[in-house]
Amino acid sequence: MGDKIPVGILGATGAVGQNYIFLLQDHPWFEVTYVAASPRSAGKPYREVVESRWLLGANVPEGVRDLVIEDANDPSKAVGKCRFVFSALELDSKDEIKALENSYAALGIPVVSNASAHRWTDDVPMLIPEINADHVAVIDAQKKAHGWDKGFVAVKPNCSLQSYMTPIWALMKAGYEVKRMFVTTLQAVSGAGYPGVPSLDMIDNVVPYIGGEEEKSEKEPLKIFGSLADGKIVNAAGPLVAAHCNRVPVINGHTACVSLEFGEKKPSLAEVEKIWTEFRGLPQELGLPFAPKQPIIVRHEPNRPQPRRDRDEDKGMAVSVGRLRDCPLFDIRFVGLSHNTVRGAAGGGILNAELLKAKGYLA
Ligand code: NAP
Repeated sequence: MGDKIPVGILGATGAVGQNYIFLLQDHPWFEVTYVAASPRSAGKPYREVVESRWLLGANVPEGVRDLVIEDANDPSKAVGKCRFVFSALELDSKDEIKALENSYAALGIPVVSNASAHRWTDDVPMLIPEINADHVAVIDAQKKAHGWDKGFVAVKPNCSLQSYMTPIWALMKAGYEVKRMFVTTLQAVSGAGYPGVPSLDMIDNVVPYIGGEEEKSEKEPLKIFGSLADGKIVNAAGPLVAAHCNRVPVINGHTACVSLEFGEKKPSLAEVEKIWTEFRGLPQELGLPFAPKQPIIVRHEPNRPQPRRDRDEDKGMAVSVGRLRDCPLFDIRFVGLSHNTVRGAAGGGILNAELLKAKGYLA
C-alpha cells in the first residue's frame, strides 16, 4: 500500500461504485482497501458479486477482486480499514442515507458522497471544485455543530449539472450576470444505475421524465453559486432556471441544450468563447491528479459535442461545449456535454476528495 491513503467505497457493487473501483486503480494518492454494499452482497468476495454485471471492460481490477464485501449499514466495520469513504449508496429513502452517512462521520470517517440526501443540508458543501472550492470551509462549522473530530460529509451535485455549470460559472466569474436559463437535458441510461431503465422502455425511445431531476436542476445551482455566512451556505438569488429532463438511449454522457439571458452587460459570442477557452479553476492551479487540464473544451464542428465522440475527453473529466450561437428568446445558446458516471459521479467524487486532501481535511 505504501504511502497511499486507504479508502472505502459504500455501494461498491453499483454503477457508480464500479466506476470508483475502476478509476482508483492507479490513483497516486488513494488506494481502495474496503468495499461495502447491501446485506445481499455482504460476506462475499467482490469479484463473485460483480463479475456477471461488471460494466467497465473485461475484468474486475486485481487489487479489489478478493476484498470481502461488508454490510454498508454497519459503519463500525470500516473503522481501522480506511481513512475515508466514497458513498455511492442507493437506499429506500434519503433519510436513511443521511443517517447512515452521519454515522460514518460520527465514527471519525469522512464521507465524500454521490447521494442526493445531504445536498440540502446547509452546513454540507455541494462541490464542483472549479466553481466553489471555498465552500469546503463550511466543514469546520459542520464538525463543530455535531461534535465530530475528524469525520464530516461533503457531497457532489446532480450529474447532469456538470454539463453546463462550469461554462456558466466561467461567464459569471468574468463579470456577466446570468439572470435566466432554460435547459433541456438528454441523459444517458447509466444515470439510472444498474440495471436501470428496462430495455423495452429505452430502445427506440425517449422518456420525457426522470423523477426529481427537474427540481434538482432548478435548485442545486443556487447552492453551488451560494456563499458562506455564519457557518452555512446561503443560496444565491439566481439565476432562475427552467429545466426539461429526458432519458435517452445513450449509455454514457449527459447532453444539455442551454439558453442564457444575461443582465445589463452582455458578452459577444467571441468573448464567450475566449472566456471558456481561458478558464481555469483551483483544481487546475493545484494540479490535482483528476483535474482536467482544459476544463471547458470548445468544439466548432456544427454537429458536436456528441456523447460517443466527446464524453471521454481528458479522462472523462472535461466539459465539452459547442453550437454556441445567438438565441432569439434569450441572449446566447449552446450545447454542453459531460461524462455522467465519471465527471458526474465517481470522477467528480475523486476530484472532491483530492481537493479536501489538498486543503488538509483528510489528514
Ligand atoms: P446502483 O447501481 O443501483 O447501486 C446501488 C448500490 O447501493 C449497490 O452497491 C447496492 O448494493 C447498494 N445498496 C442497495 N440497497 C442497499 C441497502 N439496503 N444497504 C446497503 N447498500 C445497499 O446505483 P448507482 O447508479 O450506482 O447510484 C448510487 C448513488 O449515486 C445514488 O445515490 C445515485 O443517486 C447517485 N448518483 C448516481 C449517478 C449515476 O450516473 N449513476 C450520478 C450521480 C449520483 P447491492 O449490489 O448489494 O444491492
